[in-house]
Amino acid sequence: MSNTIVIGDGPGGLSAALFLAKNGAEAHVYGQNETAMNHAYLYNYLGIDEISGTDFQAKARAQATSAGASIHDVTVTAVSADREGVTATLESGQTIEADYLILSEGKNPELGRSLGLDEDEGAILVDNERRSSEPRVYVIGRSARPARSQAIISAGDGAKAALDILSREAGKDVKDWDTPPKD
Ligand SMILES: Cc1cc2nc3c(=O)[nH]c(=O)nc-3n(C[C@H](O)[C@H](O)[C@H](O)COP(=O)(O)OP(=O)(O)OC[C@H]3O[C@@H](n4cnc5c(N)ncnc54)[C@H](O)[C@@H]3O)c2cc1C
Repeated sequence: MSNTIVIGDGPGGLSAALFLAKNGAEAHVYGQNETAMNHAYLYNYLGIDEISGTDFQAKARAQATSAGASIHDVTVTAVSADREGVTATLESGQTIEADYLILSEGKNPELGRSLGLDEDEGAILVDNERRSSEPRVYVIGRSARPARSQAIISAGDGAKAALDILSREAGKDVKDWDTPPKD
């Protein structure tokens, strides 16, 4: 089972964690619910008529946790990555190791910058699967498109990164499709 560190608990990070955990992969989210969503009121999230950003976050956190993700009310102070794996240092000084790192830091991608990831005009550059220039590091959401950030796009980015990790681990394309429960 793969192990992923997700830094950031906005819609991007929580969506990635949901997809990973629901499919049996370990997903550990770090963040303190200081997302921009707490200032938002959504009328443009498909499938939801309207919801406050704070209520959206509460539902999203509960959904990811219920799927098996862990959410830690902790700031990450440093990260590193190489061909073998990734490491995150927590504010306590504790070091966590994992197979993959998903950075969903929002508007200030300081950890992404500390890794020296390729950047253009304030956006961390990623490919279509949201992989950065560091092969085990994904950058999603606002950090990768600061000028055109929307909650639903960040959530979609999280899903893309998670499916890419699941596919890399499986050695084949993975999709997460469900069907209605049988009566
Ligand atoms: C006033 C306002 C209104 C908005 N209205 C809408 C709207 O109507 N519709 C819409 O779609 N979007 C709206 N948005 C934008 C929406 O909030 C963002 O698009 C969305 O929050 C981006 O999600 P994200 O997951 O990419 O990043 P964020 O939600 O910014 O999440 C990043 C998270 O990472 C955490 N973090 C960063 N670094 C670390 C670290 N080192 N360790 C641990 N945690 C870390 C941050 O604290 C934060 O919680 C609005 C934004 C604002 C400010």
